[in-house]
Amino acid sequence: MSQQNVGSLDVEAIRAEYPILEREFDGTPLVYLDNAATTHTPEPVVEAMSDYYRTSNSNVHRGIHQLSQEASIAYEDAHDRVADFIGASGEREEIVFTKNTTESENLLAYSWGLNELGPDDEVVLTEMEHHASLVTWQQIAKRTGASVKYIEVDETGRLDMEHARECITDDTALVSVVHVSNTLGTVNPVAELADLAHDHGAYIFVDGAQAVPTRPVDVEAIDADFYAFSGHKMAGPTGIGVLYGKKKLLEEMEPYLYGGGMIRKVTFEDSTWGDLPWKFEPGTPPIAEAVGLHAAVDYLEELGMERVRAHEEELAAYAYDRLAEEGDVEIYGPEPGAERGGLVSFNLEGVHAHDLASIMNDHAVAIRAGDHCTQPLHDKLGVAASARASFYVYNTHEEVDALVEALDDARQLFA
Ligand code: PMP
Repeated sequence: MSQQNVGSLDVEAIRAEYPILEREFDGTPLVYLDNAATTHTPEPVVEAMSDYYRTSNSNVHRGIHQLSQEASIAYEDAHDRVADFIGASGEREEIVFTKNTTESENLLAYSWGLNELGPDDEVVLTEMEHHASLVTWQQIAKRTGASVKYIEVDETGRLDMEHARECITDDTALVSVVHVSNTLGTVNPVAELADLAHDHGAYIFVDGAQAVPTRPVDVEAIDADFYAFSGHKMAGPTGIGVLYGKKKLLEEMEPYLYGGGMIRKVTFEDSTWGDLPWKFEPGTPPIAEAVGLHAAVDYLEELGMERVRAHEEELAAYAYDRLAEEGDVEIYGPEPGAERGGLVSFNLEGVHAHDLASIMNDHAVAIRAGDHCTQPLHDKLGVAASARASFYVYNTHEEVDALVEALDDARQLFA
């Protein structure tokens, strides 16, 4: 098996665009398997941002001077590019730039949730939600009197769809579901859940933080009402995230933050709001980051999102199988295949996940250990923490081998 071409991506050529992957620690080359937390940034993205700072840096909102015009156009274009990437036909009006997925979820919760929810309403989450959704809706529910329900995760790591049908009722105001679980790797049937929500007159929000970077996503095919993701997990910069919302719904929503750049008319008594999406983007926005996100989308589309998905699935399957062969490794989430994204969470018998991550670090293998912002799910799994290896377009089979080989050291030291 070729170690360089995984799926049909030319991994060697891809790696050449990421100087950070050349780093070594005490002579050992870095093996970066923490991509579900943050991916690295390829040269075309770094270049686009540097170029923006070198040539067009200015504030947006259509200043009269040339640089401001250029910055405004670049910023606006980035919205259109993202809309196109995720199949939002309403273009820039449906794409709100935020700081990250977490802020996108808070925007929805504060803007729509606080105003629309009441004691008779239910918000349906799943047991595998990231704290970004779970904590946010818990708090909004407390403030509005709404209640929160959780669709159960079954023993295979998938959503119990029978339970979903019981949970989603005419009392449901919103279903909030993670598209690809950052802990279990499960790819959830979001289109089916959207249908269920809509059948009961509810909206659906999809947390796509792990999905948009790793597979083709079409928000209109899913029929998501709202959808969120982060730039830094998709070869883009930190500091920028996206909230997609159907135009009609965003139009009806109140702003979440107030200030300059989002208004139409201000008097001493009152103010009115500007057009979408600017109504939700007050103050100086992440302009260079938007330029970087635009470049990241170009970069990913050039690789081909179907190929990215195939690469993710193949590496996850390889890692899953190699870890499963070990006998003393417990793996969480579905078996490899179309229902598993490119990450594997696991525990090595007798070794705390943090100790394991620390031993891995001695081998220059970067993995994550902890609850991955899914504490209640870990409680359900009966563990306080897990180790997580997550893959991106530049990872290879050899890097998975390095992960598996380092397990021996952990056994010797701790087990
Ligand atoms: N949802 C999921 C599924 C995630 O994996 C993450 C990041 N771990 C988030 C939300 C939050 O993303 P961010 O930190 O970029 O806001």
